[in-house]
Amino acid sequence: MAEPKAYRNFIDGEWVESEAAAVFEDRSPADRSEIIGLFQDSVAADVDRAAEAATRAFLRWRGVPAPKRAEYIFRMGEILVRRKEDYAREMAREMGKPLREARGDVQEAIDVCYYMAGEGRRLCGWTTPSELPNKACFTTRMPVGPCGLITPWNFPMAIPSWKLIPALVCGNTVVLKPASDAPLPAYQLVKIAQECGIPRGVVNYVTGGASAGATLLRHPGVALISFTGSSETGRAVAIACAEEFKRVSLEMGGKNAMIVMDDARLDLAVDGAVWGAFATAGQRCTATSRIIVHKKVLAEFLARLTERVESLKVGDPLDESVDIGPLVNEAQLKKTMEFVQIGRDEGADLRTGGVRLTKSEYGRGWFFPPTIFAGVVPEMRLAREEIFGPVLSVLAADGLDDALKIANDTLYGLSSSIYTQDVNRAFVAARDLETGITYVNSSTIGAETHLPFGGTRRTGNGHREGAAQTALEIFTEWKTIYVDYSGRLQKAQIDNN
Ligand code: NAP
Repeated sequence: MAEPKAYRNFIDGEWVESEAAAVFEDRSPADRSEIIGLFQDSVAADVDRAAEAATRAFLRWRGVPAPKRAEYIFRMGEILVRRKEDYAREMAREMGKPLREARGDVQEAIDVCYYMAGEGRRLCGWTTPSELPNKACFTTRMPVGPCGLITPWNFPMAIPSWKLIPALVCGNTVVLKPASDAPLPAYQLVKIAQECGIPRGVVNYVTGGASAGATLLRHPGVALISFTGSSETGRAVAIACAEEFKRVSLEMGGKNAMIVMDDARLDLAVDGAVWGAFATAGQRCTATSRIIVHKKVLAEFLARLTERVESLKVGDPLDESVDIGPLVNEAQLKKTMEFVQIGRDEGADLRTGGVRLTKSEYGRGWFFPPTIFAGVVPEMRLAREEIFGPVLSVLAADGLDDALKIANDTLYGLSSSIYTQDVNRAFVAARDLETGITYVNSSTIGAETHLPFGGTRRTGNGHREGAAQTALEIFTEWKTIYVDYSGRLQKAQIDNN
């Protein structure tokens, strides 16, 4: 068998090994005997060198005009378009999402590049009249500085791009630390950045586990941490950043609910439920984890949903006919199995799935079938905790008010949806669901990159990312500029009153 490829860190424009000369294996979750590659198990010295390179490059990069910075980004988009299929295949093998979803993941990065390439010629501030004569007032955006980007494995190219691309257009330099379960798509992004001629030190890439991430949090040169991952890790990130007065944006967990009203088109709601709950094997921050169904249609909805779910094909993510791939790793599989046991112990009604798939075709991977629990009530852990696996809880509601109350009874606030044909109910739900994103007659997943992405409560800390204008709020600082051309000392609040 051929030796697995060894991938290096990218620091100050050079592909280098970790100073500890240690690597970790990146294996396919569909077939654990397949090694995707060996990645650097970076130590503090590697991360520090990357942060120092980003710090040195910052003054030069912020001086490059934004439209020029954006031209590099446009070229990155062009390369991504050409290599989309190769990257999608690599991603499906590496982290297990079915190929068509992996293509969507790469497409998000393309969309972000094209949107942000245009942003280089906007990055708008505003002008406003002064309260004093012969004085001009306006605002501009300044880059924040070297940014530490820490990303999860479930959208391994899309999420790094949501951070890397706006950070660069805004004039920041970066150190990117991707998740250890899927570092390859971020590597490809960085390689493309190099190919496009982005100057040395502007983009740095280090792989390694939690301690590599933690070193980045502590480095004094890093001005901003942009983190996506679990709420548990996010809390530790926020605490470390508070110690150093670093800016921090956090995108974390979810426990997303879909409401199905008695006037809903059930065929549409079933389609949305299957896609929302089981795409990426339920490993999406926006995954539909709870479905709250009006009692009048509950029995029919459950029957139709169960029938559809039982027809889904679980298997090799590279097989175009497969609906659900494996879970990303053993820990995620164990957590899913634990929650199935918790659901049984809590007295929920297991309708389908619930037992690990072990037949020969599944034996070498972390496969688990789509699982539905009915009879779930809001107090159960099944209804409260993020599982991040293909386990869906179905709850009953008496009407819209009851459904909204159940939906909002959660620590998280990322995504929500309602299926109804009644425009009044749709608008009430859109107003009253306490999440950052709400869909009407569509699933809880399916965000478009030019709109703000993020959530309330333990999902986030008030930022919205993606390629939306709101991403600029993360990666820039406002500067207010006053120009007095009166030729004398004028005093605001005093001369006019
Ligand atoms: P995770 O375990 O929190 O890891 C996220 C990233 O943080 C990884 O790169 C990880 O490195 C790193 N890390 C771990 N411990 C760290 C520490 N102490 N200091 C600094 N960095 C540290 O999350 P995950 O399992 O990769 O992703 C799943 C979670 O992400 C779910 O909760 C999901 O809801 C959430 N998510 C949220 C969004 C959103 O936009 N709201 C989007 C996608 C996913 P290693 O991989 O090396 O451990």
